Amino acid sequence: MNQEPEDGDLVAEPAKLPVPKDVEEAIRTLIRWAGDDPEREGLLDTPKRVARAWKEYCAGYLEDPAHHLSRTFKEVGGYDEVVLLKDIPFQSHCEHHMAPIIGKAAIAYLPRDRVVGISKLARVLQGFARRLQVQERLTAEVADCIWEHLQPHGVAVVIEANHACMSARGVRTPGVAMTTSRMMGVFRDDERSRKEVLSLMGY
Ligand SMILES: [Zn+2]
Repeated sequence: MNQEPEDGDLVAEPAKLPVPKDVEEAIRTLIRWAGDDPEREGLLDTPKRVARAWKEYCAGYLEDPAHHLSRTFKEVGGYDEVVLLKDIPFQSHCEHHMAPIIGKAAIAYLPRDRVVGISKLARVLQGFARRLQVQERLTAEVADCIWEHLQPHGVAVVIEANHACMSARGVRTPGVAMTTSRMMGVFRDDERSRKEVLSLMGY
């Protein structure tokens, strides 16, 4: 694949992809396993819908999130403070149960010599969130991607999320959020900087 997708565009549009027969059959099997009849009217088109929905939930596999950081700006008017995007909503799916993870993220970096359009930070998050994930890895992947591609003085990522596999099954404890964070560069090494960024994030 040597054609770069336009910024923000997916390589293919999941809703229009043809659904292979074996994928449909797998979902019919799952419906049967759950205890229902895949041949009843209300469920006839469900396998196709589920298949396409999963292609969307996992659209992150169709892109390289780092791509969103390829266009940077050097003209920052001497700005050398923290850049922060917070309360970024996201949805992901846990790799253990394929159940929804719904949460929000705060992403900050301290630029060295270049910045990106602020929406790009959210796009990086979405690119990694739209895959089968564990929250710890999602947090690390977002931070590492920014660290590697912007080479800033510091990166801080804090993610808070609810896991349906915990609220809807298993111990069934709704309303319990899990928080993960990754601090790099000055935010890891310098306590004052870390405190500052966490307080900007509202922690
Ligand atoms: Zn799970």
